[in-house]
Amino acid sequence: MKQKLLVAGRITPTLETRLAGAYDVTNLAAQADPAGYLEAHGAEFAALVTNAASGVDNATIDALPNLKVISSFGVGLDRIDVAHANARGVAVGYTPDVLNDCVADLAIALMLDTARGLSASDRYVRRGEWVKAPFPLMRKVSGANLGVVGMGRIGRAIAERAAGFSMDVRYHTRRVVADAPWRHEPSLVELARWADFLIVITAGGAATRHLIDAAVLDALGPKGFLVNVARGSVVDEQALVWALKEKRIAGAGLDVYQDEPNVPQELMALDNVVLAPHIASGTLETRQAMADRVFDNLHSFFAEGRLISAAPAA
Ligand code: NDP
Repeated sequence: MKQKLLVAGRITPTLETRLAGAYDVTNLAAQADPAGYLEAHGAEFAALVTNAASGVDNATIDALPNLKVISSFGVGLDRIDVAHANARGVAVGYTPDVLNDCVADLAIALMLDTARGLSASDRYVRRGEWVKAPFPLMRKVSGANLGVVGMGRIGRAIAERAAGFSMDVRYHTRRVVADAPWRHEPSLVELARWADFLIVITAGGAATRHLIDAAVLDALGPKGFLVNVARGSVVDEQALVWALKEKRIAGAGLDVYQDEPNVPQELMALDNVVLAPHIASGTLETRQAMADRVFDNLHSFFAEGRLISAAPAA
């Protein structure tokens, strides 16, 4: 008999079809009364699939008394209380590493776009302004100073790419990364002061909430650019809007926001801001690899009693 699996966050139709071949799948969002459904049927489910953006709250985990495993589509763990799940005997799987390249690629793309004004110049050409005047001169990226906030799997892929632009790289984390060849900067404000570009790629959650605040933005200064591909919560968005409007920093490239998919009008009105709709891992290849890991985590758990990628409970 197939194990019963609950889909609690949006996943691709292809993954849902593949899951349905191996499990008895129910989509919670398709139920007329999800809370009532959980109350009546919660005890039937052994597995739950969600995505990093939706996560799963503790109330839902607690409503599934026979749950054995959660398999999440994504690497962020800010919306899953792994310690709580583990304490309830529930293993949590996620999809690290397979998205490093694409997230790092997008971070570099946002850095280049903000510095060179690629999106702004596209709008300029389409508005017919090129025939009236040349586009203003922008900032050089190659050879500049890059500060990376967070030096985990993705931070490292970003720093490696920066070598191709002959950039000098330093990073800030709470702990020194022993085998990282770049210089660790224990003070985030000092890193921002040194950097021409600051790319944020820490974990989300309470520990990093508003890590990038007015003081860090002020240290980055009027010639500095901020790129955030981590989580919206890591940046104090109000302080960022203020810094951009007052030209206390030069520009920003953002993939993530405080209240997705709502982007503040004030950000939309600024030409020196590049706004991406949380697409850092959004390529066919990477999303397929992530879907495969979601499936393989479950398969390995039920076949061999262990996940391929178990989420840390920190
Ligand atoms: P890792 O766990 O490998 O790295 C996280 C890094 O953040 C570590 O270097 C850690 O260092 C650092 N960090 C955590 N807390 C702090 C803090 N308070 N101050 C400074 N640094 C901190 O994760 P990944 O590299 O795989 O992914 C990073 C994040 O990227 C994910 O958690 C996710 O939120 C985001 N992400 C965004 C995507 C998007 O679509 N935009 C796609 C994929 C991921 P230390 O613990 O030593 O401080």
